[in-house]
Amino acid sequence: NSTIGILGGGQLGRMLALAAARLGYRVAILDPDKSAPAAQVANIHIAAPYEDESALDELAALADVVTFEWENVPVASARRIEARTPVFPPPAALEAAQDRLTEKRFLNDLGIETAPFHAVDSDRDAQDALFELGGTGIIKTRRMGYDGKGQLRLRGSDDLGGLHASFNSVPLILEGIVPFEREISVIAARGQDGAFLAFDPAENVHRDGILHTSTVPATVTPQVAHDAKDAARKILDALDYVGVIGVEFFVTHDDRLLANEIAPRVHNSGHWTEAACVLSQFEAHIRALVGLPLPDAFRHSDCVMENLIGDEVTQAPTLAAEPGAMVHLYGKAEARPGRKMGHVTRLTPRLG
Ligand code: ATP
Ligand code: MG
Ligand code: MG
Repeated sequence: NSTIGILGGGQLGRMLALAAARLGYRVAILDPDKSAPAAQVANIHIAAPYEDESALDELAALADVVTFEWENVPVASARRIEARTPVFPPPAALEAAQDRLTEKRFLNDLGIETAPFHAVDSDRDAQDALFELGGTGIIKTRRMGYDGKGQLRLRGSDDLGGLHASFNSVPLILEGIVPFEREISVIAARGQDGAFLAFDPAENVHRDGILHTSTVPATVTPQVAHDAKDAARKILDALDYVGVIGVEFFVTHDDRLLANEIAPRVHNSGHWTEAACVLSQFEAHIRALVGLPLPDAFRHSDCVMENLIGDEVTQAPTLAAEPGAMVHLYGKAEARPGRKMGHVTRLTPRLG
């Protein structure tokens, strides 16, 4: 009865732990927060910082394989564990995804198009880059951004002086604004034997920078859906990846596909898979970690996943009364604004 270690104990870790339990595995999590969502369902909780070397060694000793549910886990911590116990996805994938600059270069090197981008390390860089991009763009911190945090839209007339200082002089990237028609994501998995599984693309709508809904199938042509899965396969193969990845794309009116970012973990836009597929993204990840097969996910329903943010979680009893709606709550005590508290997936079975 082997043990799976997880760095991070948020809702993603919780859902991974539930999937692991269903396959008969024990779970040990490392998360500094005593009331982390995954702590309620894991067998062992090491409550320590992600840099704590003795805690990392303890997790490595306890677990037969270690994964992470948070893309900003320190790479050095993942590598320390890897010296004793296999870590999947490979820490190199963490490294590639943690910095938006290396991430975009990595994608372009694979022939996968992205928004045009420039590194920005000074106000002068910002001015030059904005000029290159024709006067508009989105400034993002290269590291640590999520839910649209650490981003600023720039128009030509904006005063760029003091921009760098206002971001505390952290490294930035300026991206061209993609005039996209819609956003989609592909959740894909790769096994230790190179087996590949891709879920159908989801169409994603954001609200206040946070994912609001994921709808499957996405309104895209079969060609676009195929190309998106193919790009995910290239990324996974290039990283010699094991586990699940989320790849976000923009789709333009003329069906051009541009990658936005990759998340080397299970992904919010893949939560629908637990309700609409026989094999969920969480189980696919656990299977990849332990070397179980990754057959087709067998999507039996169309669906819309809606995040329950902050106070929206109070709708849960009403949603639970809806036939065909699967409600999933993360057990977080405090419904702070902007906090992901749970989600609901509404299903429409595919008949025939
Ligand atoms: P996540 O929570 O998905 O990790 P994030 O904070 O890492 O988000 P991005 O995914 O880079 O940020 O951007 C958030 C959203 O902002 C995108 O989903 C998209 O709607 C919009 N956006 C980001 N970059 C661009 C761009 N270059 N052109 C147009 N829209 C963009
Ligand atoms: Mg992101
Ligand atoms: Mg994103």
